Amino acid sequence: MDRQGLEPGFDLLLLDCRLPDGRAADIGCLGGRIAALGPLQERPAAQRLSCGGCAVTPGLVDCHIHLDKALLSERTPSREGTLAEAIRITGEAKRNFTIEDIRRRARAVLDLAVRSGTTAMRSHVEVDPIVGLNGLEALLPLRREYAPALDLQLCAFAQEGILQAPGTEALLAEALRRGADLIGGCPYNDTDPFGQIDIVFRLAREFGVDADFHVDFFDEPEHLHLRYIAEQTVRHGWQGRVALGHCTELGALAPPDLEPIAAELKAAGVGVITLPATDLYLMGRKDSHRVRRGLAPIKRLLAAGVTVAAATNNVCNAFTPVGNANLALMGFLLTLGAHMGTAAEQADVLRMLTDQPARLLRLPDYGLAVGCQADLVVWEARSVAEIAATLAPPRTVVKRGRIAVEHTRSVREPWREGRG
Ligand SMILES: [Zn+2]
Repeated sequence: MDRQGLEPGFDLLLLDCRLPDGRAADIGCLGGRIAALGPLQERPAAQRLSCGGCAVTPGLVDCHIHLDKALLSERTPSREGTLAEAIRITGEAKRNFTIEDIRRRARAVLDLAVRSGTTAMRSHVEVDPIVGLNGLEALLPLRREYAPALDLQLCAFAQEGILQAPGTEALLAEALRRGADLIGGCPYNDTDPFGQIDIVFRLAREFGVDADFHVDFFDEPEHLHLRYIAEQTVRHGWQGRVALGHCTELGALAPPDLEPIAAELKAAGVGVITLPATDLYLMGRKDSHRVRRGLAPIKRLLAAGVTVAAATNNVCNAFTPVGNANLALMGFLLTLGAHMGTAAEQADVLRMLTDQPARLLRLPDYGLAVGCQADLVVWEARSVAEIAATLAPPRTVVKRGRIAVEHTRSVREPWREGRG
């Protein structure tokens, strides 16, 4: 209220929205934030957008993607379809990456993501003696370029290992010095997984950054490196700052064996990121029949109170030959792959694309409440359940209270006029 008792106007007013909890409301945005929720149609606004009762969510958060090795399928056709082959042939392709090449492919994926309603993202960037710091050099300027549409975190990632790839540790430190937001390890691909985890935590502490591991990416629970990671997280006081991608080995554990591990993850504040497109594609390859789905045990982890998010991971390369950076597609896959079709489970699926990854990325003021950053998506859907269920397309994407993307769609159906 100003001194005359007049209520202030908004920069942007979204009228007639359906909130995730089913309530109808208008959303007033001011100064990049949600300033009011409720019946606001009488209030002045610089820009008004009629949403016609469509579902509105906070912006989607893709918390694990690889921009630097996306869109490589034509260069790296796979023959075996295994993880080992994907690492090998992508490593070979990486020798020919140039900064311009990486940046061009990354922009193509970022454009797809923004148009699909993603307003925050964490991308891994490979840092190793093969590609050096070219990936980081390619992606760092994109953080600023895409800031009006998407918040981008860059994770300096040791895909080729650290101890088995001499020089990587110094390169990771240099990447953090040059502006990488956090550090990523891959203990399954190293001669001493525990030694690698120690190095990652040492660098995380030295630079005061979060850590994100690709971990336990196999069918059988033969590694379970995540237990050591949870232990080190507590030891270093890094609770709430560590995320683990894949964790498919957990899917092979019977409930009594998973229970103590889930409790360790929860107690350590370590989050799990399921990557359904890649995991469905690469896991279960040795099964001749009764082929495993190969996903982390999402429902059991959620029930144990672990933060679980779902993310895109790879887009059209040897690790995942399909994809379009549409995060709703991961919700669609989880609904089928993880048996998450009830109303409560569908609500969990949406949380795994919004609140849960926002927590892992420690995004400040995320959500659909007064005071939150106004990152919003208006969907061509009457309820949020339709987003994953029908792959409902976004209509409008709002970033910090400004319209970032407006989709216009039209269809002609001459067949209805009897003209075929
Ligand atoms: Zn990954």
